[in-house]
Amino acid sequence: MAEKETRGFATEARQLLHLMIHSLYSNREIFIRELISNAADAADKLRFEALTQPELAAAESGVWIEADKAAKTLTFRDNGIGMTRAEVIENLGTIAHSGTAEFVNRMTGEQRNDAQLIGQFGVGFYSAFIVADRVTVLTRRAGTAESEGTRWESSGEADYTLESEANVEQGTTVVLHLKADAEEFLDDFRLRAVIRRYSDHIAVPVHLRKGDAADGEFEAVNQAKALWSRSRTDISDDEYKAFYRHVTHAFDEPLRWSHNKVEGNLEYTSLLYVPSQAPFDLWSREAPRGLKLYVRRVFIMDQAEQFLPMYLRFVKGVLDCADLPLNVSRELLQQDKRVDAIKQGLTKRVLDMLKKLAKEDVPAYAGFWTEFGRVLKEAPAEDFANREEVAKLMRFATTHTGSDKQDQSLEDYVGRMRPGQERIYYVCADNHLTAAASPHLEVFKKRNIEVLLLSDRIDDWVMNTLGTFADKRLTDVSRGDLGLDKIQTDTPQEAAPQDDSAGAAAADLSGLLTRVKDALGDAVAEVRLSDRLVSSPVCLVIGEHDMGAQMRRLLEAAGQDVPETKPALELNRDHPLIRRLDAEQDEDQFGEFAQVLLDQARLAEGAQLPDPGAFVGRLNRLLVALSARGD
Ligand code: ADP
Ligand code: MG
Repeated sequence: MAEKETRGFATEARQLLHLMIHSLYSNREIFIRELISNAADAADKLRFEALTQPELAAAESGVWIEADKAAKTLTFRDNGIGMTRAEVIENLGTIAHSGTAEFVNRMTGEQRNDAQLIGQFGVGFYSAFIVADRVTVLTRRAGTAESEGTRWESSGEADYTLESEANVEQGTTVVLHLKADAEEFLDDFRLRAVIRRYSDHIAVPVHLRKGDAADGEFEAVNQAKALWSRSRTDISDDEYKAFYRHVTHAFDEPLRWSHNKVEGNLEYTSLLYVPSQAPFDLWSREAPRGLKLYVRRVFIMDQAEQFLPMYLRFVKGVLDCADLPLNVSRELLQQDKRVDAIKQGLTKRVLDMLKKLAKEDVPAYAGFWTEFGRVLKEAPAEDFANREEVAKLMRFATTHTGSDKQDQSLEDYVGRMRPGQERIYYVCADNHLTAAASPHLEVFKKRNIEVLLLSDRIDDWVMNTLGTFADKRLTDVSRGDLGLDKIQTDTPQEAAPQDDSAGAAAADLSGLLTRVKDALGDAVAEVRLSDRLVSSPVCLVIGEHDMGAQMRRLLEAAGQDVPETKPALELNRDHPLIRRLDAEQDEDQFGEFAQVLLDQARLAEGAQLPDPGAFVGRLNRLLVALSARGD
């Protein structure tokens, strides 16, 4: 039999305890939720092990809570799976989950936000120390032959003690020795109200001892019916929200939920939630995702990720499937055809839910898009079949509103297209300002044709992957041919000057084009006159099938070798600088001039200059020459 030993908490656990006790004060009743939820999990785990070892099954699983006013203790007892000594050390002496350090970093913020983070990190048990200055845990693992169990005790400071104890019942008992200012939780009325709030949706019965006497009777406080198996009309919004918190351990409110029973070929019930806040680890590959899987009410596994595509990884909830075998494993799920069918069904449910949200509650949808929009943008590559449906859910900034808010849909855009317009136009840059100021937009502004202003790093890739929307080609305005000729605009003559004088000017400038190309050499594929520009002297245009600048930077940042492609330089025949360039006789001066124009075209796209020092040198020489001439 192991001796009594004292162990220190892992460092982060200590920090965490300290921060939590001080920052969650105003929300402290949540310890009840956490302890009930642990007991319910323990009952689930026991039921799961009993599938293969029937002798383990508890007579009737449940949670029993009792308050002792004289001793000032609050006790939570369950007959679930219990823990071995090693498991106690693992689970209660360190913080098992990897996000702990991150959690501690975030805890220092505002109290309310802190409250929303606790639990996402599996710190639930420690919440007991918000109200208790000493916590005792007595536990015995199901399936251990002897009745010897483990006693864990701590005052929530630097360390805890461990001791073996004889004659321990299977399961776990947690005794909270309440702080003087937490004695409200001994009050029958208060206690019952909080327990009810946190346990109504829980599938195991939660009992509370009546009165204070040690031999007092226990009384069931909840319905002990799995929430999702009840009828939608019998479930209140508050119950749905409480269940969301139970499933996710999160504190935010769910934005929407969808509760459905499917019958027929396949029989399953799903309850899916869209959270209102993104978890801190949304972008981490190892972050847990997926649904809680049940088979006919029996808990099978957490994080069953096979039932939703990656781009819906923010969706939380429960799937209870009547057709899967109870012994289903992750490996079996991967091969099961029924899983695919369910995945398709659930994907559609989520997309419908989002569509409805977008229609019915625009501000809420805007919030959703801010939190999860970038995840949805992965869809076109992952889910070909639904790419048009998902594209409808995307929101962008556009020249139509002129705002940097990403709040316009592709359908909105299509509804505003001009007569004769067959394409959807967009410009990509690293940020909204650069996109909005792009020289490529000039002709569109002049002709009053709308352009989407894209500034998310993956937008270029998203547009390329989508290819079309509603049969309209998605067209990058910095690329090849724009197909503007057929579009009717308010000022057609002005927009497309076709008269003789323009033709003559173009002919006049053909010598200039050759001179510029010679001066710039291999830096550009071609130099030509532009029909894109109105107020800028120059811009760069890439080939129809060449990779966009944004995409190139994305791939390069990911360490990929990207084949070099050369853009064409377009000149604005009406710009004074271009006419001045044409008039330049000194070939050296001409070369400097042409280089500066090329570099400014690069800068306008938000690109890095290959040699910024040379650019600054040239610009300064030009300025000096200019001031020397006194004009
Ligand atoms: P989480 O529940 O998110 O894992 P907690 O801090 O609430 O985090 O609990 C930590 C771990 O301690 C649990 O994962 C579980 O393994 C163990 N545990 C806590 N309470 C019980 C209990 N009543 N019965 C069995 N194991 C428990
Ligand atoms: Mg827990």
